[in-house]
Amino acid sequence: MKTLEEITEIERLTAPLGTLARTEVLARADEGGLSLPIYKVTFGTTDPAAPVLGLVGGVHGLERIGAQVCVSLLNSLSQLVLWDRNTQSVLEKVRVFFIPTVNPWGILTKHRCNPGGVDLMRNAPVEALGKVPWMLGGQRYSRRLPWYRGENGAPLQPEAQALVSAVEKEIRHSPLSITVDFHSGFGLQDRIWFPYAKTVEPYPDVGLMHSFTNLLERTYPHHFYRIEPQAVNYTTHGDLWDYLYDRHLEAKAAGPYLPLAVEMGSWNWVKKNPFQFFSADGSFNPVKRHRLRRVLRRHNTFFEFLLRAISSPEAWANLNEEQKMKHQERALQLWYAHLNGVTP
Ligand SMILES: [Zn+2]
Repeated sequence: MKTLEEITEIERLTAPLGTLARTEVLARADEGGLSLPIYKVTFGTTDPAAPVLGLVGGVHGLERIGAQVCVSLLNSLSQLVLWDRNTQSVLEKVRVFFIPTVNPWGILTKHRCNPGGVDLMRNAPVEALGKVPWMLGGQRYSRRLPWYRGENGAPLQPEAQALVSAVEKEIRHSPLSITVDFHSGFGLQDRIWFPYAKTVEPYPDVGLMHSFTNLLERTYPHHFYRIEPQAVNYTTHGDLWDYLYDRHLEAKAAGPYLPLAVEMGSWNWVKKNPFQFFSADGSFNPVKRHRLRRVLRRHNTFFEFLLRAISSPEAWANLNEEQKMKHQERALQLWYAHLNGVTP
């Protein structure tokens, strides 16, 4: 049966790992005779009270590079776990999971949406607090148009539900969790986005986000990411990470949760190779081989940083009241002072 290159690669990478990784099929995307598994691969301790790092890709099928980066990081960890004693000892204390192809049908058929025509990143039951950009912010006019949210009141789409349930199970009892969802398409520069997508108002954990950013900037001062709340760029309805974050707060879960997205700036790839705008892969993926290789290795340092940060929470996440206040103040200054109605 026809399948996806990334799925074959996940199967190839995990086959020799035995008990070093746990592979499960969260759901299957069935459409037009295809039945594509949505894999989750998990490394590390099974202790529900351990820190957790999750890597996610392929939510938007057109942004195939997100799935490819995620599979590439899975490749590295699948090797490190076999020979690197440092990685092995980190994984005794933390858990790392990968869901690289959330929307396998979309990737295979080059659609942003899932088989039901729904944009999974607009599908959560979350209403934006202010006006969102027309269409782009999420729409209910038609499944034939982009950014379709799905029917009002309908359950989550199968892919969205698979993602939400899997992430929630991992983070609910964890004292500290981070997820990173890889996308591409917006702007010239790679960005790290944090919540909210639904409002430009500061989200409750901005202080922790500032502490995380501060650690990254101290450790890798020459990193190339622009770090900012997603809503600075545009607000949307239905963001799955807003939804997961708010549910995590409401559940009074064990510890803080940072849902991050890496938005790879694809306009640069188009600028350097204008003809790819007309290619079958659209304008969201590096088409030239050397550029693809460069993008695939581009996030290795960030991944390494994430592994270290999640296994050393005392360096940045276990804040006392005074530190919390300090980071909160700086976060408001840095990210929100220029926005309407917010005074630091
Ligand atoms: Zn996307």
